[in-house]
Amino acid sequence: MASRMLRKGIAVSPGVAVGQAYCVPEVFVDPESEAIEHSEVFDELARYEQACEKTAADLKALFQKVSRQVGEKEAAIFRAHKQILRDPAFSDKIRQSILRQRMSSQAALKRLLDEYSAIFKRTQDAYLKERLADLRDVIVRLSGHLSPILKTDVAHLEGPLILVAEEILPSQVITLGEREVAGIVTQAGGSTSHAAILARSRGIPAVSGVRGILQQVKNGDLLVVDGREGHLMINPNSEVESAYRKLQREFVHLKDTLVENCDQPARSADGETIELLANINNLGDARAAVTTGAAGVGLFRTEYLFLTHRDVPDEEEQLEAYRQIIEASPHRRVTIRTLDLGGDKTIPYLGHDREANPFMGWRSIRLSFEHPEFFATQIRAVLRAARNTDGTTNEVRLMFPMITTLEEMRRVRGMVRRAYRQLQDGGIPCAPVPIGLMLEVPAAAVAIESLLEVVDFVSIGSNDLVQYLMAADRDNPKVSHLCQPLSPAVVRVLSDVIAACRRADKAVSLCGEMAGQPRAFLLLFGMGLRSFSMSPAFVPTIKDLVSHLSVARTVEIHRHALRLKTTGRVNRYLAEQLHEIAPNLELFDLT
Ligand code: PEP
Ligand code: MG
Repeated sequence: MASRMLRKGIAVSPGVAVGQAYCVPEVFVDPESEAIEHSEVFDELARYEQACEKTAADLKALFQKVSRQVGEKEAAIFRAHKQILRDPAFSDKIRQSILRQRMSSQAALKRLLDEYSAIFKRTQDAYLKERLADLRDVIVRLSGHLSPILKTDVAHLEGPLILVAEEILPSQVITLGEREVAGIVTQAGGSTSHAAILARSRGIPAVSGVRGILQQVKNGDLLVVDGREGHLMINPNSEVESAYRKLQREFVHLKDTLVENCDQPARSADGETIELLANINNLGDARAAVTTGAAGVGLFRTEYLFLTHRDVPDEEEQLEAYRQIIEASPHRRVTIRTLDLGGDKTIPYLGHDREANPFMGWRSIRLSFEHPEFFATQIRAVLRAARNTDGTTNEVRLMFPMITTLEEMRRVRGMVRRAYRQLQDGGIPCAPVPIGLMLEVPAAAVAIESLLEVVDFVSIGSNDLVQYLMAADRDNPKVSHLCQPLSPAVVRVLSDVIAACRRADKAVSLCGEMAGQPRAFLLLFGMGLRSFSMSPAFVPTIKDLVSHLSVARTVEIHRHALRLKTTGRVNRYLAEQLHEIAPNLELFDLT
């Protein structure tokens, strides 16, 4: 029996899960059969070819499944992976290792993976990094067909699984549906990692940044994931296990019950109406927004359309993609954000030089301005998508990320005006849309009064606003103690910005992760915020929380929180308030 242990990581998706560990291997190499005999070479080659065929069949099935469920563009990645598999340069390397060096196919794959990983670590080139990640994906999938041990192990595991991995790969994310995944633990950190985003959008408890966990846990170990506290327990004793199993049952039951409120309006105990919107990246998320009862989409991150596209989607392709998203979204209400690339998200065809500080550099709106044609195409596609072919219009809004100065906002307004005029002059159906700024840069928070004069609405992007205010990278676990949305400085800035918007009678919303965190929500509601956008999975919880709130109580909470001088105090105070107001929702709260 492996030892009992408690490990601390970063809480990234709330809830509690108990289950058997499944360590997601990259490539499993059995040391006993790493080298093969001369006589085995041809059998080994045949085994490898068979694995290639099976992998190709998997990729084809995945392409079809994802095209059907999400969209053809999102599925394009699997077609690209098939091309890698068929690329002679790739397979020849493996065949040569088997043939000349008498390596087992697993060992050959592992060596190739190690080579790629070494390049991956060295390179800063985003394009190369992306290609290497794709190669890694293909190798891991191929290896799954070569390792009987791996398959047997999974088959032996019963009940819901807790995935333990370095990071969850995009392909694994999509195939997860075949086995019930109760929890996710990753060694990689960051609340915006693939695993974190997946876990949140599916409501799966998750902890990230647990260094060295793959060395401590083996398949079949009993794990408790406390996604609220950011804890992981390995082989707990029976009392702890049964206490957590009880909590897990409550969590699952509560989640199921809360979704039943999806048709209800979001209204506070004293009758205030609140708007709960969804953050989406693709069609699947838009559909999830409908099932969880969101009132619309408050943030559509269009970069995912570009990141999953092999080349630049042209105006017609973008128009089609936006139409599909609008069609699938609740009440056809969608706030579309223009490309937010750079930082940790880069695409090859926009050309991106290495920068010392990518988050402070040429990202987001700054990059869009440097490609005016490309940027104008996106604006035109959005203006066209706002009008349906039957002449009716949709509630589409256009929002610009990372605005820093008044000049930038004036410039985008001018671009939208020109694009609209051009479309009209060309007789192309389109509709005017409200224009908003994403408040993510401290300079824009300071200058909010003048910016308000040139925008129709504001959406606070607290994920970035917090990292810039605190000068602490949102993806770096070493500074996660600083990158805290409930630090007094952030609370003060949010409070001032919301007050300024209300004074100017401008629509204001918040679309960062904190909108879906119960304790932070108490405070934001108390600040007078009435529109929130969050992961679709959080909508039912927050709707329930709202029904317990009153304006008077939350205004008092806000007033008191403003007097607290440390993040710890603000956190503790809000946790106590949540405990008094809605103890049943504490399981959905991140500490
Ligand atoms: C934000 O910064 O708060 C935000 C919602 O945008 P993203 O997470 O895509 O940067
Ligand atoms: Mg942002």
